[in-house]
Amino acid sequence: MKLYDAHNHLQSEALLPQIGQVAADLASEEIAGAVVNGTTPDDWSAVSALDSRFSWVVPSYGVHPWDCGNRPTNWQELLSSQIASEPHAQIGEIGIDRWILDRAKSDDSRLAGLRSAPLDEQLKVFIWQLEFAAARGRAASIHCIDAWGALFDALKTTKLPDQGFLLHAYAGPPEMVKSFADLGAYFSFNGSYLDPKRANQREAFKSVPRDRLLIETDAPAMPMRNDWKRHDLPARPDSASVNHPANIRGVYEGLAEFLNLPIAQLAKQVEANFQRLFFLKQDVIQ
Ligand SMILES: [Zn+2]
Repeated sequence: MKLYDAHNHLQSEALLPQIGQVAADLASEEIAGAVVNGTTPDDWSAVSALDSRFSWVVPSYGVHPWDCGNRPTNWQELLSSQIASEPHAQIGEIGIDRWILDRAKSDDSRLAGLRSAPLDEQLKVFIWQLEFAAARGRAASIHCIDAWGALFDALKTTKLPDQGFLLHAYAGPPEMVKSFADLGAYFSFNGSYLDPKRANQREAFKSVPRDRLLIETDAPAMPMRNDWKRHDLPARPDSASVNHPANIRGVYEGLAEFLNLPIAQLAKQVEANFQRLFFLKQDVIQ
């Protein structure tokens, strides 16, 4: 059974030093495709190096809303030249996030050293990247926290990629799923939604059209529930736990049980969806 991780960050400092073992674990779980998302021009070369090393990596480049406030002035040129030589590269992780402005704790180590850009500034950077993805024929991977109305308004008034876009770790209202799907959205189910306390996020996936359903880890972020977890990595120095990307199989298993679907049927559907949205590089090369 071939598995596809629609969204992770293999280039992260939490994974890269042990990438040999991580990749061997992924191979043992039959990984066949993983979209590796850059978040700032500083990590794009690491994403590109992973793309050269592993056939199943789909590279994706973008400025994440958390990194928006610290972007270099020439970020648009850098993005343009990054994808110019990579016809199979996608755009992401991009998006908008009101949580960092309203709810994040000031001592959250993940935000250390980052300037939180106001929503207007985030929106400008997000919309530019969306239009850029559409103009260059690339899919976009979108992050949204606490800003679903603003996201919908932006998507409605922007030229979107023909092949569609991914709302990664969708945690918006279930009743907005249809409106987003009508605009071309795919929705990826994150392993952390298997936590009993996250019923709201899980429920929304009952409304997701089956031909728009994807599965993700967001590793090393969004650690998942123990019952479905097979692989562990040492915690970070600040003792934050690290999600192993090979836990993707557990996400498939948990979601199959939740949707009451045979896992082979779910895997076949997700494979078709992943290939439709992200065009595996083998398809580009052939
Ligand atoms: Zn992410």
